[in-house]
Amino acid sequence: MNSRRDFLQKITASAIAIQLPNFVLASCNETNNQHYDGPVLRVAIMGLGSYGNRVAEAMQSCKKAKLVGVISGTPSKIKDWQSKYNIPEKNCYNYENFDAIKNNPDIDVVYVITPNALHKDQVIRVAKAGKHVISEKPMSINAKDGQEMINACKKAGVKLLVGYRMHFEPKTLEIIRMRKEGELGKILFFQGQCGFTIGDPAQWRLNKQLAGGGAMMDIGIYAINGARYMVGEEPIWVTAQETKTNREKFKDGVDETIQFQFGFPSGAVASCLSTYNMNNLDRFFLDAEKGFAELQPSTGYGPIKGRTNKGELNQLHVTHQTVQMDEMAGIILEGKQPIVPVDGEEALKDLKIIDAIFLAVKTGSKVDLKL
Ligand code: NAD
Repeated sequence: MNSRRDFLQKITASAIAIQLPNFVLASCNETNNQHYDGPVLRVAIMGLGSYGNRVAEAMQSCKKAKLVGVISGTPSKIKDWQSKYNIPEKNCYNYENFDAIKNNPDIDVVYVITPNALHKDQVIRVAKAGKHVISEKPMSINAKDGQEMINACKKAGVKLLVGYRMHFEPKTLEIIRMRKEGELGKILFFQGQCGFTIGDPAQWRLNKQLAGGGAMMDIGIYAINGARYMVGEEPIWVTAQETKTNREKFKDGVDETIQFQFGFPSGAVASCLSTYNMNNLDRFFLDAEKGFAELQPSTGYGPIKGRTNKGELNQLHVTHQTVQMDEMAGIILEGKQPIVPVDGEEALKDLKIIDAIFLAVKTGSKVDLKL
């Protein structure tokens, strides 16, 4: 996660429209040297910040997804992106006028990559404009808002996906395969450690209004989501404890370090750590009756490294966002089913767990979960 951490701290072919309105055909993609003749997802990115830039760059190697539009409050960024990515003026919007995307037949989906607390209203506005939506994680800042987003997308008949890039990562998927096929035996224990030392105290990630919380919303969510896809069950209870060493930097409602524990229906348990105040924490460990699996780093941009009781995992490194966007194109345009879901319902489960973790911290009690 180094490059991400650094960022945070600094603070073809001819497209032929056919009968299906959302589809265009592309002929060949030179980047991966594979002939591709299928539908292409035309994407507008909202929020041209550090992660938006990373996604845009990665999308240049996609074969099924293409960056065609932008939504930003900063005209100079729009100009830069227009020249860098050849984006036509008619596909450029700002936060005031983007509802007009409704009348733009050349955009299929909007990828919302803005501060967490803004996702809800922005996603709902995109849905009302009749476009599919991808929201960055966390989908919103609590389960109530998440449910409203799901409802709005259902009502509008558009798909809602969330940027869970690890759900397409090859070493992660290999462990999930081993677990599903019984190679690890009964799952007993998961440990997820996710954190980094956050810099600039003035950034939105440390502002409750924009972030909705602190480390848990941003990085702890990887341990929550990871516990679910590594164990392969939904937790039924959670306990949690918070520690805060710097009340000036981590104000009320902005968590610095939270340790939390899950219980699963099979009897498996998990022990996780979410922090904005320690480095070198990007590790998953899964213990099972017949073996173990370890990922370290586990959720950074990669290369992810992993091993199991059978030896090193050697699946090739892929650019997460490139694969994610190609796979999401398949989900949106062709109804493909991912191995681990990336839809609003999946994200809502994480939000319900975050709500429960905050409640467990506040009450000091074990909180039951019904996901
Ligand atoms: P960033 O600060 O670099 O970018 C945020 C963008 O939103 C900026 O361009 C900013 O101008 C814009 N913005 C619009 N309205 C704003 C407002 N009212 N206040 C502040 N900024 C506003 O942040 P980022 O790192 O790009 O994160 C954006 C989202 O992406 C977050 O939800 C974050 O959790 C998510 N993210 C996901 C990953 C991942 O690996 N999936 C990685 C990084 C960030």
